[in-house]
Amino acid sequence: MRLVLLGAPGSGKGTQAQKLVQKYRIPQVSTGDLLRDAVARKTALGLEAKAAMDAGKLVADTIVLAMIRERLARPDAARGFILDGFPRNVAQADALGTLLSKMGKPLDSVVLMDIDTKVLFKRLTGRRTCRRCARVFNIYTNPPGKKPDCEGGRTHDLFQRPDDNEETISHRLEVYEAQTRPLVAYYRRRRLLKVIDATGELDDVFARLERAIPGTDAAKSGKRAAPARRRRPAKRPGKGNTMAGKTVKKTVRKAVRMEKKAAKSIRKTTRSAAKSVKRATTKLGKALRRAVKPTVADRATAPLRAAGKSAKRAVKRTASKARKATRPSAAKRAKRTVKKSVRKVRR
Ligand code: AMP
Repeated sequence: MRLVLLGAPGSGKGTQAQKLVQKYRIPQVSTGDLLRDAVARKTALGLEAKAAMDAGKLVADTIVLAMIRERLARPDAARGFILDGFPRNVAQADALGTLLSKMGKPLDSVVLMDIDTKVLFKRLTGRRTCRRCARVFNIYTNPPGKKPDCEGGRTHDLFQRPDDNEETISHRLEVYEAQTRPLVAYYRRRRLLKVIDATGELDDVFARLERAIPGTDAAKSGKRAAPARRRRPAKRPGKGNTMAGKTVKKTVRKAVRMEKKAAKSIRKTTRSAAKSVKRATTKLGKALRRAVKPTVADRATAPLRAAGKSAKRAVKRTASKARKATRPSAAKRAKRTVKKSVRKVRR
């Protein structure tokens, strides 16, 4: 399994990656953890990265890529890995692609953990990590159990990450939107992207995640993960998300209904006109055939039949012209009404 977990800070990448590690025995490679470790050990790299991390900015690509190269070359990554928090921009994704293709181990899939920003705030402000075992908890949604279950049967020694304060969180979310979000399209184009709903209970999210990863039993058992859906554009007034938008939508629907009704009535009139022409021609032909010899009658009615046919064609032509003529005007009417509603809404 060679997997990238993509998602905003707080979407649960770390927590779900830990569950995958436990079940599939492949390492979680978190650039955030590697950087925090370097900062704690006060290495040159750590000192360089610290300022960017404290400000909620991305650390320089060169530093992160050097760390990733070294980490993926270790033996425990030979069977697979879960990348968490990497790549974070297109340059990193390109570099990862090159590195993995040189290693002959391309990615199997990329899973986007999709979540609402409001939920993210709660998750990030409630997040606590154990100093000893590095397990991640949330005081609101996933508190450590009452029983001490840290290393050596001790209670967890929890701390809050310095970059989990509100100001830094806002900045990290902005950075995610600007630099990391484009990776959704990047991996969708490469047909590697799966999207899962990352809200809800941990185990439910985990079940969705497993179903999204090719090769897992859950994926094989048939229940398919949600297809990669496009993110809805940001809500704007008049776009169907407010009362005003609803009015516009209603008006458009009404105009379309009117147009359909008009087209239907034209079709009906045309059909009945054609039928009456046909009926008249047949009647006349029959009367003539009865009056004179069949051959003479046939000859006599031939021009009539031709006239009937051409009349039918003319009716058809006129009807189609009428349809064409009505359609644009109905559309124009609809457009005008919509424009009027939008103007009203803006006012
Ligand atoms: P995380 O634990 O993934 O939320 O990362 C914490 C911080 O580490 C981020 O806010 C960045 O400052 C830095 N960081 C982690 N991963 C990367 C990366 N791939 N590229 C650049 N900076 C990173």
